[in-house]
Amino acid sequence: MTSIAQVIQQIRPHILQLQPYSSARDEFSGKADVYLDANENPFGSPLLNAVAYHRYPDPHQSELKQLIATSKGISADQIFLGNGSDEAIDLLIRLFCEPNQDSIIICPPTYGMYAVSAAIHNVKVQQIPLLTPNFTLDTQKLMQAMPQSKILWLCSPNNPTGNLLSADAIEQLLRHDSACLVVVDEAYIDFSTASSWLCQLHKHPKLVVLQTFSKAWGMAGLRLGMAFAHPAIIALLDKIKPPYNINAYTQRAAMQALQHHKQVSHWVEQIRHERERLTSRLQLLACVEHIYPSEANFILVRFKQAANIFQHLMQKGIIVRDRSNAVHCHNCLRISIGKPEENDRLLQALEQW
Ligand SMILES: *Cc1c(COP(=O)(O)O)cnc(C)c1O
Repeated sequence: MTSIAQVIQQIRPHILQLQPYSSARDEFSGKADVYLDANENPFGSPLLNAVAYHRYPDPHQSELKQLIATSKGISADQIFLGNGSDEAIDLLIRLFCEPNQDSIIICPPTYGMYAVSAAIHNVKVQQIPLLTPNFTLDTQKLMQAMPQSKILWLCSPNNPTGNLLSADAIEQLLRHDSACLVVVDEAYIDFSTASSWLCQLHKHPKLVVLQTFSKAWGMAGLRLGMAFAHPAIIALLDKIKPPYNINAYTQRAAMQALQHHKQVSHWVEQIRHERERLTSRLQLLACVEHIYPSEANFILVRFKQAANIFQHLMQKGIIVRDRSNAVHCHNCLRISIGKPEENDRLLQALEQW
């Protein structure tokens, strides 16, 4: 098994040496009467709100992390918070991958940001496609490739296919004798029946789990993503992040949202129910060729003529995502599950086709 020391050896050496920025809030974190250390406006901000927006936010998000830790049954030093998961994806690549030299592995069809973030940093992307017909991992090829790569990106439930990746396959990759980081992106885990990989974190120092407030939690506009990993990896992510990456409003809002987890579970239940209803209704339509089973809040549907259907829906004011250019996704549209009346409008438009 890989040790945390072996994983840390994979980090770019200059980052291990790096002296991080020390903010005003790093140099004094206690309570004081008079703050004259951060060049803020002492009078306040023109916004009427209880939150003191004229002050810089907590760069360590301590209070929020403690609430997340309690709700997930882990410790606060296993949590990194990013300006969306997209920031965590970007920082993981910056931490491990030397531009023009290192590579990452992705399993298309999958979330686009892994490859885009790599490309921004001039990091090579090795594609090891999921296997048809059920979008399963090619574990043999992956294990061959891992020793030459820095990060393997897995997404479960996968976007855009909607399926979970096999837990046995992921376990095999985590046990494989290579220090290649294994990231499991669980952006859609709340909609799934499977349990999160979070509870396996303590067993696998090379495991990173991503989750987000953007999907089930309904806070896509506030930009809050989570990365969970060994505390040594979290400390390095914190070292290279912009000091105030999570703004004060978002920190406060997320703390409030966590108290309303019952409301979120209720919505998730409704979405799952709608997902099954939409699936069985779509199956009756002649224009539909196949509906992939989904554990997420969207379904991937293969149509006979996806491009025409896409245009038809757009004319009816309904926008879905055309995925027909993705690997193995010929003629496929990805349809997010909406409110019951929105799903009815979609069905009506397709029935008129
Ligand atoms: C939507 C999505 C995310 C979320 O990204 P944020 O930056 O947190 O909004 C992450 N991964 C996948 C696979 C997604 O589909």
